[in-house]
Amino acid sequence: MRCKMRRPIMANSVQPADFSADYQPRSAPYFSPDAIIVTKGSYQTRQQRNLVEAICSVYPKARIIEELDQPHNRVRLDISEPLGLHYRGKRTLVLGIHKSAVRYSDEENNMCPNYWHFSPYGFCPYDCQYCYLAGTPGVKYCPVVKIFLNLAQILSQIDRVASQLAEPTAFYLGKLQDALALDPLTGYSRVVIPFFAGHRYARLILLTKSVNVQNLLDLDHKQHTILSWSLNPPEICAAFEKNLPSPGERIESMRRCADAGYPARAVIMPIIPVDGWQNIYSEFLENLLGSTPLSRVTLGQICSYTGALKLTERKLGRRNPISRRLERTRCNDGRIRFPLELRLEVYRYLIDKIKRLKPQLDIGLCMEEQQIFEAPNVESTTGCCNCLL
Ligand code: SF4
Repeated sequence: MRCKMRRPIMANSVQPADFSADYQPRSAPYFSPDAIIVTKGSYQTRQQRNLVEAICSVYPKARIIEELDQPHNRVRLDISEPLGLHYRGKRTLVLGIHKSAVRYSDEENNMCPNYWHFSPYGFCPYDCQYCYLAGTPGVKYCPVVKIFLNLAQILSQIDRVASQLAEPTAFYLGKLQDALALDPLTGYSRVVIPFFAGHRYARLILLTKSVNVQNLLDLDHKQHTILSWSLNPPEICAAFEKNLPSPGERIESMRRCADAGYPARAVIMPIIPVDGWQNIYSEFLENLLGSTPLSRVTLGQICSYTGALKLTERKLGRRNPISRRLERTRCNDGRIRFPLELRLEVYRYLIDKIKRLKPQLDIGLCMEEQQIFEAPNVESTTGCCNCLL
């Protein structure tokens, strides 16, 4: 007798797909790959093959290299000089599948609450001079931009986790990538946001520096998606963020999404206390909070690793405004930060400013240590991280 396989029951009314079949990929602003490497598993379904072909056709000048025996994490670029490798990676797109794209973070020895996150993309095409991701082990040796094609599998994993937890649970997109930088190419938002809208428990929190919101505005999101933008004042962006949209453009995108009913949050991180930072950040907060309806603001400072900071110094020189202020000893969680007193001074100043502008606004801190959260005039920020609902 033949057994019939039963499909798992999903707590979700939307069956996930790899991508929206009628979606026409468009080029992603600020990204112009010289090479596209197609890796193992990319052609495992007809839909995925179609998406590979459609993405390749958007960049007719890019070299297409098939490495179909190679998983995405085995790709290597033929260059060893660190800065050359970094910029070659930023112009290389790797297509593949990611079997463990849904994970629970494992921060220890800081106050990060740990949270679920997922990765339909890897890394990003932008060029933030302080980027900590650039120095992490998965990226340092092969800093390419990745698109994972098995989106339906990734969403099924999210469904499984959320259904087991059986309570509203956030899944974060933006920990190991920019959430929307490549959305014009993939149209993934048009699958992902309806998936979360139809899910009983799973909720999406997305973090981006992009302005690629065209695909989002007409979606019925049911407020199950929270959009957050990583922002800094124009003076800081001009000095430390290259090849990405200006803060004014990002704020305009936030406003458009807030008008479309999405809960919108700002993550001001890393705050960089350059000379005159008090006035620079005050003016920026007045503009941001006066023009955009926000549900939460999260503040954070540099919390990086040696490998990433070496890359920063290759880009900006050893005496750059970040390196000059950093403590050289590592914190308990292995990260390098500004001295405690400086961090506290910055947080107290900005929290006071935000409270005077918007007394009811939730304020959180990102990746901080216990001493900071326990300090007078800062302790009210506990439990408002951007990765939490
Ligand atoms: S957007 Fe994020 S991942 Fe991309 S370069 Fe900037 S800091 Fe790095």
